[in-house]
Amino acid sequence: MTDTVPWSYAPAPQERGIVTIAPSYGLFVDGKFAAAADGRTFATVNPATEESLAEVALAGEADVDRAVRAARAAYENVWGPMPGAQRAKYIYRIARLIAERAREFAVLESLDNGKPIRESRDVDVPLASAHFFYHAGWADKLDYAGFGQARPVGVAGQVIPWNFPLLMAAWKLAPALAAGNTCVLKPAETTPLTALLLAEVCQQAELPPGVVNIITGAGDTGAALVAHPGVDKVAFTGSTEVGKEILRSAAGSGRKLTMELGGKAANVVFEDAPLEGAVEGIVNGIFFNQGHVCCAGSRLLVQESVADMLLDRLRRRLAALRLGDPLDKNTDIGAINSRQQLDKIRELSAAGETEGAERWSPPCQLPDRGYWFPPTLFTGVSQSSRIAREEIFGPVLSVLTFRTPEEAVAKANNTPYGLSAGVWTEKGSRILWLAQRMRAGVVWANTYNRFDPASPFGGYRESGFGREGGRQGLGAYLDA
Ligand code: NDP
Repeated sequence: MTDTVPWSYAPAPQERGIVTIAPSYGLFVDGKFAAAADGRTFATVNPATEESLAEVALAGEADVDRAVRAARAAYENVWGPMPGAQRAKYIYRIARLIAERAREFAVLESLDNGKPIRESRDVDVPLASAHFFYHAGWADKLDYAGFGQARPVGVAGQVIPWNFPLLMAAWKLAPALAAGNTCVLKPAETTPLTALLLAEVCQQAELPPGVVNIITGAGDTGAALVAHPGVDKVAFTGSTEVGKEILRSAAGSGRKLTMELGGKAANVVFEDAPLEGAVEGIVNGIFFNQGHVCCAGSRLLVQESVADMLLDRLRRRLAALRLGDPLDKNTDIGAINSRQQLDKIRELSAAGETEGAERWSPPCQLPDRGYWFPPTLFTGVSQSSRIAREEIFGPVLSVLTFRTPEEAVAKANNTPYGLSAGVWTEKGSRILWLAQRMRAGVVWANTYNRFDPASPFGGYRESGFGREGGRQGLGAYLDA
């Protein structure tokens, strides 16, 4: 998209050599890497080039069973009885090792996921390390956390998606370990590599075998894990559809569950908002991580009186975004994570046009190979349109307008989801008024996509239940 500005950035490629990718990876069970019992593997692909990065073991039921047994033995014999202060030392070690190997993690994440190195380097990896640091601090203070004499739950079965592979692993593992649980984690099929590097970090930190087990595979592996009778707690992040499947399979089992599911957040801009700041917040809200974000501000609600002015500025800003090589430090928009996801974004965008919305993208040269989608804006979107209702999970923004604050609230809440929302206004009283009426787990005011390990995150309605982060997130891993 640099064609639209009179000057251009010179390429600033990140050195790829910092990462050594092995030709193949085993499952990390009981402290060791080993092939799947039946020897099956699958390829993980760089979405920016479609090149195969490595072959990864595909865990079947026998492997899931072995991992859960290893976690159970470690829970009963080592991790459960270990004093919190001891557990904290291991978790601090993991936090420090992630920070030490940050660049390696960032490059690997961008290669396997397609996200810009600027994001993996500045957001995903530092936040992952911060989650371990934060939760290490809780490990010896659980008796003072307000949960009474709480005990760990036992073995946690954790299934994570592909949009923030390392960060989601940290969100799942850090609180579970701090609370004294052991874990079996299944990364997404398209992004297993940073979780496997994290397994290496667990070895480096001399974490006792079986405390963290990482089993790679596809949906069937995840299904086998969450249904395993040896799992005491299921933590899932992913689509609402799969979340519902898991809920059905877990019904009556008495298992503890947390579900972080989809979203269709409204980012509400009032006429008194500082528009330049709002434009940055809108861009961050929907184009960060190619829009592969459950809390993405995918519906822009803008007050009619400033809509034209805001949209002009937004279009200008989008024309300056740089799409391309995820390993270039100048890149704003990287590759779409998979062919399947690209097809879904294309299908929903086509539906938007068919349903009468006006589609706009800046002039943009897409690379010849890999999975790419330009930043896209839909105006004239009606509330009933699929692009206003369904989670697109891509760099696509649907714009709606409103006249009064009441109308803004009604439109923002007109969704089956309830994960997040944003509000842009100069008036503090209006922020509070709106936040009280938004049916969303998180409401950001004059900012968007802000995360901190101390701050609980989660939704309700079709966005799931339970919180991750903060004291509340810790409670999900305690039998309080
Ligand atoms: P899924 O919900 O299918 O994947 C999330 C995780 O669950 C992955 O590790 C997946 O494994 C695993 N999984 C799949 N099926 C099952 C099952 N039956 N039981 C247990 N675990 C399972 O998301 P997709 O990757 O298929 O993406 C589909 C859509 O979901 C996206 O287009 C997007 O709209 C939405 N999505 C939303 C996310 C969010 O955080 N809100 C995150 C990811 C996706 P595997 O990857 O190996 O199939």
